[in-house]
Amino acid sequence: MSSISSLTEKSSHFIELEEKYSAHNYHPLPVVLSRGEGVFVWDVDNRRYFDFLSGYSAVNQGHCHPKIIATLTAQAHKLTLTSRAFFSDLLGEYAQYITRYFGFDRVLPMNTGVEAVETALKLCRRWGYVSKGIEANKARIIVCGGNFHGRTSTVISFSSDPSSFQNFGPFMPGFEIIPYNDLPALAKALQDPHVAGFLLEPIQGEAGVLVPDEGYLSRAKAYCEQANVLFIADEIQTGLCRTGRMLACDHESVRPDILILGKALSGGTLPVSAVLADDPIMLTIRPGEHGSTYGGNPLACKVAMTALSILKEENMVENAALLGNLFRERLAGLSSPFIKLVRGKGLLNAIVIDHPHPDAAWQLCLALKENGLLAKPTHGDKIRFAPPLVISRSQILESVEIISKSLQALESLQGNGAVLIT
Ligand code: PLP
Repeated sequence: MSSISSLTEKSSHFIELEEKYSAHNYHPLPVVLSRGEGVFVWDVDNRRYFDFLSGYSAVNQGHCHPKIIATLTAQAHKLTLTSRAFFSDLLGEYAQYITRYFGFDRVLPMNTGVEAVETALKLCRRWGYVSKGIEANKARIIVCGGNFHGRTSTVISFSSDPSSFQNFGPFMPGFEIIPYNDLPALAKALQDPHVAGFLLEPIQGEAGVLVPDEGYLSRAKAYCEQANVLFIADEIQTGLCRTGRMLACDHESVRPDILILGKALSGGTLPVSAVLADDPIMLTIRPGEHGSTYGGNPLACKVAMTALSILKEENMVENAALLGNLFRERLAGLSSPFIKLVRGKGLLNAIVIDHPHPDAAWQLCLALKENGLLAKPTHGDKIRFAPPLVISRSQILESVEIISKSLQALESLQGNGAVLIT
């Protein structure tokens, strides 16, 4: 492949090291990054790229945001970890800050996204037994086909993607998969009195930025209320201004019963996740029944407060909404025969590629890389475009030009032939 052969000796060295000593659980684009600032990242040969993945939406505030880095380094010199065996002077302040920010009674702090999902599932089951009165060990949680909630054994137990679950069984029981964006299927599943919760992504990110029909979220929430079932929103990818609202649920004025956040909660600096809920749900878990050594550590608390404050100070909701509209409009305006569909909300967007070559999306990503923009295919023929939310209007226009130029590479891609990158 031309872009592999165009790799410098330096890049090849780092790629070979990773290939040799790291598990092969990812298939990265052949680019070796060593620096980031705002919307840009640089490779080891000092070539600059627009980052249109943003660490899977962890870097909403832009790479190495100076305020986040200042907070991180100052706190790192002071106190990083106490464990929850003791109080710290920051967890209470952070808990007050984040609960007021999102309007919930309490937060349960965790680290990675999937840990927060696990926490929400446990919380939901616990509530189902002690509050709803579901018979012991019979609680069920409804999830959606095409979901992505992370990689633990429980979470992959309800994945519909074989690459996530195959040969990892036996699986955790107690989940029912219904089609996404299907209200009649939800209504039917809710008839089971053992159902404690409905877990969903308000927009399915990994599935290729699938936006449900307008009204789906608000009706699904109403159905859940009628059935005394918790509505659990995984906003790990869609939250924190990414879709042009603080939360994707805000598009339909839906307040989840359990809200799950992660990724951009630390602006891409360290794993920080959170589960938010009100007292009747959160207080069903008592001391010793759930936790994490690093969850709620002082470093994370301080960084998360800064990361959240920046979202508002720098008007990221407005920027994502405005520039997202511009981006989709300009992409659609390219009228490329290779773009079947442009979809998304705010700055969480994707294109679906129309090309006979099975690797066309990957090849387009290689061409984009050569032209100075990084993006990654998801589920074969889709490419997600999710730049940091600090991107400017002129940078959006420049990026669309790069995409337009790179699409030409698909003209010379036939059957199984290689792409010629210009
Ligand atoms: N939930 C959603 C919606 C995600 O997009 C992701 C990660 O991409 C996760 C959960 C898992 O987060 P993490 O990789 O931090 O465990």
